[in-house]
This record gives sequence, C-alpha cells and structure tokens, in this order.
Amino acid sequence: MHPYTSMQNADIIAREDQRTSGTYSKRGIAIVRGSGAILWDADENRYVDCVGGQGSANLGHAHPAVVAAIQQQATQLISCPEIFHNDQRAAYLDELGAAMPVGMGRVFLCNSGTEAVESALKFARLSTGRPNIIAMMRGFHGRTMGALSATYEPKYREPFEPLIAGVSHVPYDRIEALAAAINDQTAAVIVEPVQGEGGVRPASPGFLTAAAALCAQHGALLIVDEVQTGFGRTGSLFAITQAGVTPDLLVMAKSMAGGMPMGALAIHERLGGFAPASHGSTFGGNPLACAAARAALRAILSEDLCAQTARKGTALMDALRSANLSKVREVRGAGLLVGLELKERVQPTLVALMQRGVLALPAGPNVLRLLPPLVITDAELAEVVTVLREVLA
Ligand SMILES: *Cc1c(COP(=O)(O)O)cnc(C)c1O
Repeated sequence: MHPYTSMQNADIIAREDQRTSGTYSKRGIAIVRGSGAILWDADENRYVDCVGGQGSANLGHAHPAVVAAIQQQATQLISCPEIFHNDQRAAYLDELGAAMPVGMGRVFLCNSGTEAVESALKFARLSTGRPNIIAMMRGFHGRTMGALSATYEPKYREPFEPLIAGVSHVPYDRIEALAAAINDQTAAVIVEPVQGEGGVRPASPGFLTAAAALCAQHGALLIVDEVQTGFGRTGSLFAITQAGVTPDLLVMAKSMAGGMPMGALAIHERLGGFAPASHGSTFGGNPLACAAARAALRAILSEDLCAQTARKGTALMDALRSANLSKVREVRGAGLLVGLELKERVQPTLVALMQRGVLALPAGPNVLRLLPPLVITDAELAEVVTVLREVLA
C-alpha cells in the first residue's frame, strides 16, 4: 500500500499545514485519488469534481491514455532541454500544429499559464518594438510580475507595484473603449475569449472580431489568452475559432498535457519566431510533458469531447436556468465553463456544496464557477444539478 493512503484527512492536513506556504486558503479535505470526474478524500468520501484541477483536468482524473503515455515515456526520457531535438516534442509540435487555428506557425513551449503569458508579452515587445500593452478590466493572466501587470484584480496587483510599465486596462467587451486606447505605441492587446477568474463572462459576438480589426489597423498584436478556455472547455478545441478570429499570439496551458504542467505560446506564421537566444525555459518542451500532451490531444479529438462539451454545457445551463434558483441572479457561460452569479457571497455555498459531495470554484466574490472535467457523465451532471437545487433554492 502507498505510505500516504493509510493517512486520514486530519493527519494529512495537520502535517501539510506545518510547512505549507500560507498563500492558499484550503478547503479542509485531503484529496488522494481520482477517476474521471470523481475524486476521493483520504477518509473515502466521494466528490463530483467541478473544480477540474482549476481547469487543468479537462480529461478527468487518471485518464488511461494519459497514464499510459506518462508511464511509457518515464521509462525512456524525462528531461531533454531544447538545445537538443526530441522525438516526443517533434511529434507533439506537429500534432498541435494540425489542431490549432489555421495560420498559427511556431510554438514556444513552457510550463504554466503565467509563463506562457510572459512569453507572449516579451514576444510582442520584441516583434513590434513598441512598449505598451492593453489588457481588460476583470482579466486574469497569471501571477508572475509581467503577467500580473496584465491581470486586473487590484488586490492581486497593488501589493507588488511597481509592475511592468506601459500596461493599461480598458473595460472588457466594449469596443469603443479599446478603440480610444489603442495607438501606434501599442505592442499588443491581451484578451480572454471568455473571462474565467473575472466572473465567467463570455465576450459578446463581434467584440473579438472588432478587436482583431483594430489591432490589424494599428499594427498591434492580438494576444488571445486561452489558458482556461482551451482544449475543449467551451465546446471547440479553442474558443477563438467560434468567433472566427485568427489571433497573432495564442496562449495556452492548464489542460494542455492532461494535468501535467505545461504551457505554450503559438505565434502566427507571418510573425516568424523568436530571435535566437531572446527567450528560453529549462523545463520547456520536456519529453514527459510532450508525451502526456500528445495523449491528451489525441483523446480530446478521438473521444469527440468538444461536441460533447457543447451539448453537456447547454444541457447544464438549461437545467440550472429552468430550476429558477432563488439565490441565483444569472446563469452564463460557454460549454462547460459555467458561472452562476449569486445574489449573495459565494463562500458559504462552496462549503454547503462540499458537504453534499460537490466541489466547485468561485470566480470573484459572488460568482459560483463550475469547471468539471469534460468527461463528466450525464448522470454525474444530474447529481450536480440536484445538489445545486438543494443549496441554492
Ligand atoms: C489560470 C490562468 C492563467 C495562469 O495560469 P497558471 O498556470 O496558473 O500560471 C492565465 N490566464 C488565464 C486565462 C487563466 O485562467
């Protein structure tokens, strides 16, 4: 038996709390095992997972193809910096290239969302020779200094100022505001197709198209941050294709490698790539992550998870709307990125759901966010709806 599985929630929590950093507010359960959309804690309590690894578990837990790829590759080669070529990386770049929006040419591989955003901001300054970045109010792009400069939430940003110069925020989904802000000093505009952390807010039809046109007109690059919306979450492999827009820079991470840490920046072919030695990452493009990412991408495509996600997301939102939950002001989302804006603070609801076996996320102070693995079954989704009706009626 694995040495830790004999420990119970209380033991694990007490031990971890001795040395954990303190930055996370924890839920008070120790998750030790998962399968599909189900998680178990150390006391064998079962949960339907609507946290989905905060967006990194689109394929669910212990997906057999991802498990097999990791096991197999671990016996061959785990680390291999990009000064060498590698078989898994070559194959993955090929397969990802074929699946991305048409015209995306080169790919910089890294290890997280924030690192992928950093690479996009650096590329934009390098490629345009301009200093300024326009980001969106309520946007979220990560927590390292560069990405944090583009993140909106003042409580994440202000304690760390001064951040990088030249970043401003305009209201999301308001094309006039972007038109007024963009000029010949704008290197890039960075935008999420659906704001995740910022409250689950899909862009209205036409906003992204108009933003792309403004960028083209002013010679600025459009950076589309698909860290949360990518890899099937909104019902297509990338949300941006639903808007019919080809980004200049496409940022991805979270579910890219079936739950393994991985991020990437894709660069439109007309922009070429990075100048030699202008950027880098030791772990970037490591064979283990690439092997997991190959298995994950193949599974998303072969299991038709995008179409299933569109169907399940619509059914879930219809069920939640027609339940007329008295504590809910609005249900919105795209695919299985679903937000319930509450008439009250979300924290007590998260606790009540957990006590009834459903794990969920907040998105700001009063929005409940559901981010289940895309492999969640209809029966499991029905279970979630039943519990939400109990808690929010
Ligand atoms: C989560 C997220 C990030 C940051 O990703 P990390 O891997 O946590 O650094 C960036 N952008 C968006 C849209 C995200 O949802």
